[in-house]
Amino acid sequence: MDCSLTFESLKLSNEIMADVRRAGFEAPTPIQAQAIPLALAGSDLIGCAQTGTGKTAAFAIPIIERLAGGAGLRALILAPTRELALQIRECFDTLGAGRHVRAAAVIGGEAIGPQFEALRRRPDVLVATPGRLLDHLDRRSLSLGFLRILVLDEADRMLDMGFAPQLERILKHVPLDRQTLCFSATMPPPMEQLVRRHLVRPVRVQIGPAARPVGKVSQVLYPLHRDEKTPLLLSLLRGEQGKVLIFTRTKHRADRLARAVGAAGHRVARIHADRSQSERRRALDGFRAGSYQVLVATDIAARGIDVANIAHVINYDLPATPEDYIHRIGRTARAEASGVASSFAAPEEGDQLRAIERHLGGPLRRERGRPHSNRS
Ligand code: AMP
Repeated sequence: MDCSLTFESLKLSNEIMADVRRAGFEAPTPIQAQAIPLALAGSDLIGCAQTGTGKTAAFAIPIIERLAGGAGLRALILAPTRELALQIRECFDTLGAGRHVRAAAVIGGEAIGPQFEALRRRPDVLVATPGRLLDHLDRRSLSLGFLRILVLDEADRMLDMGFAPQLERILKHVPLDRQTLCFSATMPPPMEQLVRRHLVRPVRVQIGPAARPVGKVSQVLYPLHRDEKTPLLLSLLRGEQGKVLIFTRTKHRADRLARAVGAAGHRVARIHADRSQSERRRALDGFRAGSYQVLVATDIAARGIDVANIAHVINYDLPATPEDYIHRIGRTARAEASGVASSFAAPEEGDQLRAIERHLGGPLRRERGRPHSNRS
């Protein structure tokens, strides 16, 4: 497949081309080059791609083109987290302006009143998390009876989070005669089952070997004792001018680490599942705008974080799975930029480290922590 395509060769409308240019996109990413023509032609699609590959625009562009000129709710995007859902809506806001295709979001953790209002304005596209969408369906504040396109974004993660029963219930409200686009970083058996039941002769689009991170990430491993993690982190932060995203294993560890990083004089925010929606949004907006240099996050909360120019991702704790590792380090080096991913591995994290290195197909480059460790 030729991935050096131009947007011009995708034969898009002048209006959307103007919005694509305004967004600063010069050429389609590989998943866009492959998925856009298929989706425009009406195929069901399975896109195996991580966040960071441009997959949101890969479905937003054909949806906007197909829905332009019509009226009423005709496309539904389901996403696992509120953060991801909001980013998807923003993508539609940017790319759908010229074609007058409007999107609304219904997501958990926010007041339901303004959502009724947004639905009354008859959006063309709805972006939703599964629980809140069902809430609206139960209250009959929306109908999916005229849906033409359904997108399941980060479908594997939705299944991991236990949303399978909700997805099945939602699918009962959606016309059978529709187009379904399913995006997923991995294809475990429950995903295959979902696809077999709900997609019709889907075309598969795979971006690169699934094990490879996107972009030019320089990956470094620091073998150390767990007591050395915070001192090493603080010394790495002292030399870092750019934005830093730090991952911890638990909410408690995220809170504790954020306190230590703040006490060392850094502007730091944190997001995890126990924080309210408005706290999470404030943290993310502040990090995006640069009022916080450092963001400490757990995996679930960080899913789909889309912040430009993250210079350094630090795995303070190794993730539970190689897929989470790929996903975490995919937060840096997005699109054309390059970035650094540093991972701290204490001896008790040996199993995760071996799984990650097996997945990557080789060992990570080792680096010693501080030259004069006080544990010598
Ligand atoms: P996504 O994988 O959808 O989360 O997109 C990752 C990032 O890439 C987002 O910040 C997009 O705005 C950006 N992006 C998407 N498509 C392109 C493109 N064709 N050229 C440059 N950047 C892009």
